Amino acid sequence: MTLHIHDTLRRAKVAFAPLDPARVTLYVCGPTVYSYAHVGNARPAVVFDVLFRLLRHAYGEGEVIYARNITDVDDKIAAAAEREGVDISAITSRFAAVYEADMAALGVLKPTLEPRATAHVPQMIEMIATLVERGHAYEAEGNVLFDVSSFPDYGALSGRTLEDLQAGARVEVAAYKRHPADFTLWKPSKPGEPMWDSPWGQGRPGWHIECSAMIEAELGFPIDIHGGGHDLIFPHHENEIAQGCCAQAGAAGYARYWMHNGFLTLEAEKMSKSLGNVLLVHDLVEQVPGEVVRWALLSAHYRAPLDWTGELLEQSRRTLDRLYDALRFLSELDPAKTSANLAAEPHQGVLQALDDDLNTPLALSLFGNYVKDVRLSVQNSRTARENVAEALAKIAVTGRLLGFLQTDAETWFKGEADADLSEQVEALIAQRGEARRAKDWPEADRLRGQLAALNVEVLDGPGGTASWRLKG
Ligand SMILES: [Zn+2]
Repeated sequence: MTLHIHDTLRRAKVAFAPLDPARVTLYVCGPTVYSYAHVGNARPAVVFDVLFRLLRHAYGEGEVIYARNITDVDDKIAAAAEREGVDISAITSRFAAVYEADMAALGVLKPTLEPRATAHVPQMIEMIATLVERGHAYEAEGNVLFDVSSFPDYGALSGRTLEDLQAGARVEVAAYKRHPADFTLWKPSKPGEPMWDSPWGQGRPGWHIECSAMIEAELGFPIDIHGGGHDLIFPHHENEIAQGCCAQAGAAGYARYWMHNGFLTLEAEKMSKSLGNVLLVHDLVEQVPGEVVRWALLSAHYRAPLDWTGELLEQSRRTLDRLYDALRFLSELDPAKTSANLAAEPHQGVLQALDDDLNTPLALSLFGNYVKDVRLSVQNSRTARENVAEALAKIAVTGRLLGFLQTDAETWFKGEADADLSEQVEALIAQRGEARRAKDWPEADRLRGQLAALNVEVLDGPGGTASWRLKG
């Protein structure tokens, strides 16, 4: 079976064939680096990591060029820099590093290319100039805007018409816009923001043009697959298509397949800073192994909404504990690690599930069952025991395809002991809190001593709350 993917533009599941039969180009909109990524931001990174792994398996590791950009010029970045009184580059380099570490913890492979917006401003200016020259963009009050009515296919990706957009426009549309849906390609910088010289005065690019310019510079038009979160379909990807197509002399097209992952909710609610229910990857991977987070993220089909709950995380943890337990059992039967030198093909059912529009829930369940079955048959049959190295090699190669079981079982369960330690520490802190409330100072001191013996430092907060950390 060849790879089939659901193409957002065609609104159908279609067979995938790259433009160049031997090479695939993939672009996914990456993070704006001004803050920590939340678990919803991690979903596309993990989903498209599975696609990257699958394509590499099918076409060869060096034949898949995956670009995920870093947006390092944005209002939110400038605001964060101002709040902290630091240079913009201090914010962007800090949070680009945090993002990279967080994604690595989730088993996300480094993309082939990670282009930065600020390194491509000349290409953006050039693309904007071409659009102006061809009559697809106009200058107004220091801004350059894309004229949506100049592109007949505008709205095709999101299923909107210019009339709908006109009718739905809010009152406060800038007066200089010819159509309310006309979007900014270039704008004057506000004080404190970075600025570049351009034919339209000093300013900076709009967000949408960044991706198109980086795609043209790094991959060339058309790319095979463009991915991102569902919320990027409109206006971001609609605008990318419009400007990317209109800037080209020929009609090569922009992206040949569009893939979008669904929303993530937190306990059935939209995750938002204003509701105060934002779950950061950075915090999650302190509490559980990143692999558990990855399992939870892939437990739903990528196009379906995913509701993140404590129970989902617990369940994922239990599943991985069982898998690692089986892995430990099987590895003990191959003490010389002969499996490491065996070539193996991934489990066919898992591969087929992934080829069917990345059906990760099915792939994960088949993988889990396979590992369980191998363990059972090895327990019950001598022949199976003799073939344990082959089975281990298949588990390893299938696990690599999905991004699971890449740690050895001993390391996994040592991590478990850390969870036990946390539990013990939390219990001691709670007892100490009670002792303090009861003004039982000797008991509180005794408990503090016990915590110190565990190398734990208690950090008393306001209102009697306490957090803790292990002393360095
Ligand atoms: Zn983008």
